[in-house]
Amino acid sequence: MRSPALLLTVCALAACTPRPLAPPTPMAEAPAPRPKNVILVIGDGMGPQQVGLLELYARRAPSSPYAGPTAFARMAEEGETGFSLHYPADSLVVDSACSATQLAIGLPALSETIGIDAKGEPQQTVLELAKSQGKATGLVSDTRLTHATPAAFAAHVSHRGKENAIAEQMLATGVDVMLSGGWRHFVPQDASGSKRKDDRDLLKEAADQGYVVVRDRTALASAGQGKLLGLFSKSGMMDAIEERATRDAADRTEPTLRDMAMVALDRLAADEDGFFVMIESGQIDWACHANDAGWLMAEMRRADEMLTGVLDWAEARGDTLVVVTADHETGGFGLSYNRHDVPAPREIAGSAFAGESYAPNWNFGPLQTLDGLAAQESALEDVLYAFDKLPDDQQTAATLSRMVSDISAFDLSVEAAGRVLATAPDPWDEDHADAPILHDDGAFYYPGSRTAVIARELGTSQSVVWATGTHTHTPVPVFAFGPGATAFGGLHHHTELGQLLREAVGGPQ
Ligand code: MG
Ligand code: ZN
Repeated sequence: MRSPALLLTVCALAACTPRPLAPPTPMAEAPAPRPKNVILVIGDGMGPQQVGLLELYARRAPSSPYAGPTAFARMAEEGETGFSLHYPADSLVVDSACSATQLAIGLPALSETIGIDAKGEPQQTVLELAKSQGKATGLVSDTRLTHATPAAFAAHVSHRGKENAIAEQMLATGVDVMLSGGWRHFVPQDASGSKRKDDRDLLKEAADQGYVVVRDRTALASAGQGKLLGLFSKSGMMDAIEERATRDAADRTEPTLRDMAMVALDRLAADEDGFFVMIESGQIDWACHANDAGWLMAEMRRADEMLTGVLDWAEARGDTLVVVTADHETGGFGLSYNRHDVPAPREIAGSAFAGESYAPNWNFGPLQTLDGLAAQESALEDVLYAFDKLPDDQQTAATLSRMVSDISAFDLSVEAAGRVLATAPDPWDEDHADAPILHDDGAFYYPGSRTAVIARELGTSQSVVWATGTHTHTPVPVFAFGPGATAFGGLHHHTELGQLLREAVGGPQ
């Protein structure tokens, strides 16, 4: 901030006259218009780099399917944009539980906690506030319902891992529409696949509470009136690559993220008091934890497809605030220039190049890279899963090289596959004596994070770099559209966004 003395000096140097007083405002500033409905969209792990990847793909990929702007670009063009910090109450870098809690309660929170303040006290979330105002409420996620991001809006526990208790609390909160994966926390312990440690059947309890309970996309499309609980997978829902590849499969049971979002909006809109809904594109984070750029591309396309539906819906009404942000950035992702495969000099017609070639010293990344990333046919972790199931004598570098090269536009050489398969004791986890060898500090990675090693081998030809297997502090983008959007511009902290959301749903101003 400039000191008054400096301002005076600048003023004196410029020989300026004192500025006349502003004319009195004719009337008190009108309060910001309050929307009827509030839609919060969270891209988990979606920093500016991740949004930037989608924008490059949409605008620059030779085979881009986009004829017009992405939904993110429309939000930026028609609404308000900003940045938000998200650090926890007591440290530098945030996890999804703490970050979503700060958005939900508007107060600082501790790492890995759900719906409680930094003193450990449960606090009313924006969803619960909306409900107390008579509004309908909803939670939608393509991860699983009890995962940290949705949980933080309708549960209050000391740790995100307490997903069985979270399931009970979310049901007790009585959220009107809940659509996601993760039925393993809702079925009694004797049921195959259950993660519960008791005999409670939360699906039956939900039905007794008046919920329509659906388990597949057909039932979702024809669900009758009432509260709605849809759980479409045992744990996380399909990743975006598989989701796109199986859309027309007759045996597919899962709806798309966009399908779930649109069902939620249409049902919640029946409440004449309006609604609050949080819709999460949750696997951007998972792709980035795995350092898998092809998977990330697919997740950003899935997020944009959902947001297009949401924005079209809100635009047509005019009474709905849409706020899009992330909880944090994941992976320290970047497209980056390098010295590999530097393009040959070429001729440029302009006068500045008379008598010389255009010959940059570096490879700044060919545009075809974007099509290559978008063409990846499965997540790298699925490739490794299939590889690990092969008989031991088939788990060779040559096999892995072929398996990765089969699903990716970027080849993994046999030599590189050998480096991916090399192991050493993990200094951060004594249970992993045969951990993959990361040239980065393994402390920043989940144990056994072999996808990150593949990412390093493919990265040079993809023009892709990753800094970590966890999250970064990078301020995340904020896009807001609709009544009350203006307040979301500028630089905030997530606790402030949380307060703004509370005001928007009708809490005390
Ligand atoms: Mg999440
Ligand atoms: Zn994460």
